Amino acid sequence: VLEVLREPLESGHITISRAARQIDFPAQFQLVAAMNPCPCGWLGDPSGKCRCSPEQVLRYRGRVSGPLLDRIDLHLFVHRVEHQALSRDQAPGESSATVRRRVITARGRQLQRQQQLNAALSGAALDRHCRPEPAAETLLQQAAARLSLSARGYHRILRVARTIADLEDISDIGAAQVAEALHYRGFGHDA
Ligand SMILES: [Zn+2]
Repeated sequence: VLEVLREPLESGHITISRAARQIDFPAQFQLVAAMNPCPCGWLGDPSGKCRCSPEQVLRYRGRVSGPLLDRIDLHLFVHRVEHQALSRDQAPGESSATVRRRVITARGRQLQRQQQLNAALSGAALDRHCRPEPAAETLLQQAAARLSLSARGYHRILRVARTIADLEDISDIGAAQVAEALHYRGFGHDA
């Protein structure tokens, strides 16, 4: 089932073939998924409760293929929240309403610049609208060589970096935005 997601994630539509008929359906969606770091779920926790062997961890992570991971832009390791921190008056960070305003503004910037959202930009359109600064370009080229990035991975990092710049109201993609976008792809490749 997971592998079947690869096609609609990329193309935004899905083709279903049955006997003599073939039908195309729109299938644009945002994939948000979670998995445990290991079979028991405790790997990386300060309690040190995890007793999984490295082989067990590798086998468990292998259930999500490289090509599928390549299509997921943001990989984040989320630590367990302490019970005390769950109480409402200690909740840190911004409200959802504040974040929502920032997202709406960033989407507006994208539509104004290129008449479509960053996620929808083709490789050629990316080159036209999302040229990084020289230092950022160098960083991206070096990372592409070091991580053996696919062309898809390269363009996906550029889209994420452009989006980070839009959220921060920065006109050109700098090295900081490329570094942040690269950081989000770390999990699963060398974690
Ligand atoms: Zn474990």
